Amino acid sequence: MKYCKKCVQPDTRPGIYFNEDRICGACLYEEEKKNIDWSSREKELREIVTWAKQKAEENKSNYECVIGVSGGKDSTFQALYARDRLGLRVLLVSGEPDGITEFGKKNIENLKQLGFDCITLRPNPKIIKKLIRKDFFEFVNPVKVTEFSLWASAYIIADKFNIPLVIQGENDALTLGVKKTALKDNDDALDINKSDTLASGWSRYLGNEVTEKDLFMFKYDEESIRRKQIRAIWLQYYAKEWSQPHNGEFAIKHGLTTRPKDTDPAEIGTYGLYYSLDSDLTPVNQLLKHIKFGFGLCTDHACYDVREGKITREEAIELVKKYDGKCSYKLIKNFCDYIGITVDEFWKTAESVRGDMWENKNGNWSLKDPIWEK
Ligand SMILES: [Zn+2]
Repeated sequence: MKYCKKCVQPDTRPGIYFNEDRICGACLYEEEKKNIDWSSREKELREIVTWAKQKAEENKSNYECVIGVSGGKDSTFQALYARDRLGLRVLLVSGEPDGITEFGKKNIENLKQLGFDCITLRPNPKIIKKLIRKDFFEFVNPVKVTEFSLWASAYIIADKFNIPLVIQGENDALTLGVKKTALKDNDDALDINKSDTLASGWSRYLGNEVTEKDLFMFKYDEESIRRKQIRAIWLQYYAKEWSQPHNGEFAIKHGLTTRPKDTDPAEIGTYGLYYSLDSDLTPVNQLLKHIKFGFGLCTDHACYDVREGKITREEAIELVKKYDGKCSYKLIKNFCDYIGITVDEFWKTAESVRGDMWENKNGNWSLKDPIWEK
């Protein structure tokens, strides 16, 4: 594996871009940000706001914008930015995950209590469970299907309620430095269907007693949305202050409950306490990502913190060495019970996708050339 010289980004991330000096796309974007004319972007955003207000009048829509929220740090920032900075009449849509954690419940309630109307879309748990199981065996990815419902929720409501503007948060093409995806590195969030996760399409979930009617909350009518001239934007493109650590600190100031300070990072695979609070499937998925690609959640969080100057690259490497890809037995067992498999079956499936960056020495898997040995 090769790693970015500035952060700890590995070249095994699907679609990642590195320049000839071995700097990753995300670090390059961090530099680019300094040259962006933010005041002209702000102006552009104000024009969109003016347009959305007029359009809501015309549509006789009670709301000017809709935001899909989990109650986590990004959605808290988006909601307050849209209402308080942009002066928009906001409707929140919460796509509640199956088996939402106590933190998740608290945080979505906190966000509502900050003063918002909110609609919850919750797909049938029996269907979700079936689809998670399918994705686990086909993609060894237990969170893929939840992304469909999460992304679709805001578009479904915008379409049904004739709300002109959807405000999404972060464009992976910018932050992760993933330039090879079909997503453009601009403000247009309408083509989210083309992202790596969603490109496989909802129709592959049909069959095994799952019909199109069961999948209503997993997809949106792109044609209807374009016909109604509904716009969808990435707030990250316009908000200079947008970053994972910034949003974390902002949301904590506004009442976000993080994981407790004494959380053992080895149980969840990262030291980052304000990420992915609403679902315990994340650490399990990140363990699987670590097996496939040789990096996990701790790498992502350490990259963000290095870029923000919160930790040094050396500190990041230590954290990655200690915590990347770790996940407690309890979380794995809970997941296995949930989809009705044994822990042995779990590991057998996980091993089937182990990447070639691993080698087995005396029955133990280790990375062939990890970042801490460079
Ligand atoms: Zn980098």
